[in-house]
Amino acid sequence: MNPDIFQLNEHESTMTLQKWTEESKDLIVGFTTKNGGVSHHPFASLNLGLHVNDEKEKVIQNRQIVSDNLNMSLSQWICAEQVHENKIVKVTTRDVEKGVYEYKDGVQATDGIYTNEPNLLLSLCFADCVPLYFFVPNQSLIGLAHAGWKGTVKDIAGNMIRKWVHEENVLAKEIFVAIGPSIGDCCYVVDDRVIEEVRHVLGYEDSAVSYQIVSEGQYALDLKEVNKLLIQKAGVPTENIITSSYCTSCHEELFFSHRRDKGQTGRMLSYIGFRED
Ligand SMILES: [Zn+2]
Repeated sequence: MNPDIFQLNEHESTMTLQKWTEESKDLIVGFTTKNGGVSHHPFASLNLGLHVNDEKEKVIQNRQIVSDNLNMSLSQWICAEQVHENKIVKVTTRDVEKGVYEYKDGVQATDGIYTNEPNLLLSLCFADCVPLYFFVPNQSLIGLAHAGWKGTVKDIAGNMIRKWVHEENVLAKEIFVAIGPSIGDCCYVVDDRVIEEVRHVLGYEDSAVSYQIVSEGQYALDLKEVNKLLIQKAGVPTENIITSSYCTSCHEELFFSHRRDKGQTGRMLSYIGFRED
């Protein structure tokens, strides 16, 4: 297997999006694994979700472990209350610690957050949904989005790009996007209702490459590919988009998977931040 764009760190609790950190030394960007934490089954061990009935103290301890590994204090973190919608919010230092200790205190009903301020760590929770990372190198503009099938067909990916173009004065061709570890079409079967929405958002022709019929009314859907197509439609050049090959369901040794674990499982975090002295 080719090395993935996300490289597992020695402590095995986080994976770094190395292609971006090689080019931007002050960038902290990656995805956590399920390993190296203190939670017990079914959250063993590095569960970072406060909303999944794990013991709160353990989740906060796990977050502290990640914070130490990244050298970004919890007082610099910003989390969101994710609702499978497509709202995007710009966050600032005024939002620090939101959702770090209480899920409901996160940036309200928001699945996409971004900032151009340094020394903040943006983070969102995942267990199969697609983590999207956005970055404009010379402007320290960084963002994250959470795209399950609902957020995907509501085009949260395109929303982030359009918001940056209209409100942050950047060109779509200046934006880089990474598509992180998430459930692959190897493990993700959906029904007609979902495929109809995919067809609707992408158009009948373009959507055809993103799914295969497995049986009547059952389709293997490549959510990463749908997001990639939406990012391209929003004007980001193909060469600016990189995609992780990891399937969260296949790689049981690394990831929690909502589908594989039948809903009883932990959460990984996607994270991005800029360090400035
Ligand atoms: Zn798979």
